[in-house]
Amino acid sequence: MAESSINLAIIGSGPAGITAGIYAARKNLSVRVFESAALGGQTSLAIFVENYPGTKRIRGSELMDQWAEHLKEFGVEVEEANGIKSVKKINGGFELVTDEKETVNAKAVLVVTGTENKKLGIPGEKELYGKGISYCANCDGPVYKGKKVAVIGGGNSGVTNGLFIEEIAAETMLIEFMPELNCDEVYLPKLEKSKIRVLKNTQALEVKGEERVQALKVKDRATGKESEIAVDGIFIYVGLEPRNRLAKELGCKLDKWGFIETSVEQASSVKGVFAAGDIVSGTLAQTVWAAASGARAALAAYDFIKQGK
Ligand SMILES: Cc1cc2nc3c(=O)[nH]c(=O)nc-3n(C[C@H](O)[C@H](O)[C@H](O)COP(=O)(O)OP(=O)(O)OC[C@H]3O[C@@H](n4cnc5c(N)ncnc54)[C@H](O)[C@@H]3O)c2cc1C
Repeated sequence: MAESSINLAIIGSGPAGITAGIYAARKNLSVRVFESAALGGQTSLAIFVENYPGTKRIRGSELMDQWAEHLKEFGVEVEEANGIKSVKKINGGFELVTDEKETVNAKAVLVVTGTENKKLGIPGEKELYGKGISYCANCDGPVYKGKKVAVIGGGNSGVTNGLFIEEIAAETMLIEFMPELNCDEVYLPKLEKSKIRVLKNTQALEVKGEERVQALKVKDRATGKESEIAVDGIFIYVGLEPRNRLAKELGCKLDKWGFIETSVEQASSVKGVFAAGDIVSGTLAQTVWAAASGARAALAAYDFIKQGK
């Protein structure tokens, strides 16, 4: 089993992790950025990002590729498909074990593991995942060319992904549990102009299908009437939950929803463990915020490592 010793281990390569990597490398810290999946985190799944200053409209994956290239300029590469399996405090720092079974010793750790999509928890969702159920329109949307699709969730993610799918699918419907949509107003005129059928105050009850998704059973919450809608695909956007397994392993203080509590310097309750981006309690779940807090965390980690602050 290989071993290495570094200053700062960054766990996650979303906007918080990549930005932290740039700041840490520019401070001459020896740093590695571990990523259990592909680089770029949630932002790389955004169809278009329109609110990151300096880039009027850019594919999320393109934006994140540019950031990773920027990081590479400082000699640090995102280690894709080499996530952190476990981490523990040891004398003088932390011991991490990677998916590639390497043991890494680090003086400080930055947890930037972000969030993952919440599941609806209805019958058929788990069984038909990958067989018509998806949580990423950008990844799986093109498969539904000319087909019937339901998007569940009327927040920003549901609406923007619904608008994306509408350009591909023959029919798209958007299903929202509450009486009104919860997206930014900027999307409403686009939605009105589109052919998307919006069903508000509607509860998804069950996904039906044998080999693949065939229908979605829903309930009109006003009348209590249940019905089945024939669909080929269902995209689910009903919120995000923290990926906090490692934070728990480290003993970081979490809020009641499982997000990491930090100081303004992004320090967690465990000395030498910092956190940034969407995994942090009370954060604004946006790229610009993840980047800013990643920068702050890297500089705080630098102070900790160099000056023992
Ligand atoms: C569909 C969608 C569209 C969005 N559009 C926009 C937008 O237009 N504008 C905007 O500002 N924001 C947008 N957001 C929000 C933005 O993407 C997030 O706020 C941002 O990505 C959070 O960054 P992060 O670095 O904290 O975490 P994430 O981006 O979630 O990255 C966390 C990374 O950590 C990795 N990871 C997890 N566990 C481990 C482990 N054990 N070891 C190693 N790696 C691990 C994950 O694989 C992931 O890559 C969007 C989000 C979604 C889902």
